[in-house]
Formats: sequence, C-alpha cells, structure tokens
Amino acid sequence: MRPRGAWLLLGLVWSCATPRELKTEDVRVERIVLTPTFELARLSDTLWIHTTYKELAGVGAVPSNGLMLATADGVVLIDTPWTPAATRTLLEWISSRLGKPVTDVIVTHSHDDRTGGVAELAPATKVHALPLTSKLAAAQGVSFTAQALAEPETKLGLGGTPVTVFSPGAGHAPDNVVVWLPEHRVLFGGCFIKSAAAGDLGNVADANLASWDVSLKTLRAWASPLETPARPVIVVPGHGGLGGTALIVHTQELVSKAISQQR
Ligand SMILES: [Zn+2]
Repeated sequence: MRPRGAWLLLGLVWSCATPRELKTEDVRVERIVLTPTFELARLSDTLWIHTTYKELAGVGAVPSNGLMLATADGVVLIDTPWTPAATRTLLEWISSRLGKPVTDVIVTHSHDDRTGGVAELAPATKVHALPLTSKLAAAQGVSFTAQALAEPETKLGLGGTPVTVFSPGAGHAPDNVVVWLPEHRVLFGGCFIKSAAAGDLGNVADANLASWDVSLKTLRAWASPLETPARPVIVVPGHGGLGGTALIVHTQELVSKAISQQR
C-alpha cells in the first residue's frame, strides 16, 4: 500500500512548484502493468489513468490514456481502453480488485481510442456523450445509447463524486469534451490536449485548426479559476504523460505552428 506516500509526494511537489512547472515526473504515480499492452497509473486511492498501447502501421506502439474513478456506487470510466482486449483486462481487474460494477462511462469524442471498448461494457453501464459523439460513433459502426451531455457544461454527481464535463468547442474533433474532477484536481483533456513530449498535433483527420485555437482559449478561460499556485490542476492528455495547465498553452503553440505551416 503506497497511496499515502504518493499523496505526500504530490503534496510536497505542489507546495514548491508553480502550476506551469508541473510535469509527469513531478507527480509520482504507482504504475501497475497488467499486460504488455495495457497498464494503470494510480494517482490516488480512487483515481487511476488507464493506458492502452496499440501498434499503428509506420508509427509503432502508441499509448492512449483514459481515467478510472472509483465512487461510492461503482467505477466510472472516462473513455474506454482503446481495444476490446484491453477493456476486458480492465473490467476483470475492476471486478477482482475493486469488486464494484462499472456504473458509467463518459466518452470524450467519437474516435476509437475513446470508444474501442464500448461493446465490452455490461448493458447496465450508462454511457454519457454529446449527441454529436453518439451520431459520429454510429457512423463509424460503434453504436451505443447515451445519456446526452449538454453544452457547454454538464455537472454530474456519480456515486457521490462530482464530475463536470465541459465542451470547449471543436478542435482535435468536432465533438471533443474535457472532464474536470474537482476532488482530485484532475482535468482530463483527452485528444484536445497534447502532452509536453508531443511535437505536433498527431491525427488531425477530423481536426479544425482555426476552431481549435479559439476552443483552447475558451478552455483556458474556463479552467483558470480552477487553479491557484498552491492548488495546481493536473492535466491528463489523451496520449502521453500528464502535466499542468502548461499543456493547454503547449497545445496552443502546436496549433499555431500547424496553422502557419498551412499558409
Ligand atoms: Zn481522436
């Protein structure tokens, strides 16, 4: 059992770092490798990052992140693992280690790195998504019945845990949303936010660069009251290591670079 130690370390880092300096290596997490292509990173007693590695032709193994949140009633997933196999691994781990049902899944956009495991979920699991996400996923052959998220913001209480879903506007995808967990001070940016190691925007097949630039400003304005120097926000991107709100600024820089390269 090391969660207390992890939190102590995190507290130590928080007390001496400004939010913009928060980096992956500052937040000590317990890494739990479940298979060669799937692992968890424990952030606290009730919050984990789940990461699936998938081989992409010409690229190699690409990691993709989602969150797993334990509540009083069960487990909430922010995005499913990328593949059905990784989702089955996660569901088995949840059942054997947490002994709770997966009550809810929040889908942060329609791509398969977010929805790849939807078909593995028990029928009783509630899916939360924008109506546009359900529509776009169905067009890609992934059908689910979702509780509709409202725009720009939906406040949910899931098993007694507050969860806010915010829709900043189109960016990486027309339907991308972010998820704020106030009790954990974690903002899940999904593919709308890039990791510090990302040197480009990655998959922009469905991206709208001009809108992404505006939507990032919207997110910055929305997120800025959430944080103080003593209480930084941990930002988890869709791919790669976590960071602070500097990841929003980093993504803005990558979008600006991509826009200037288009001209
Ligand atoms: Zn995507």
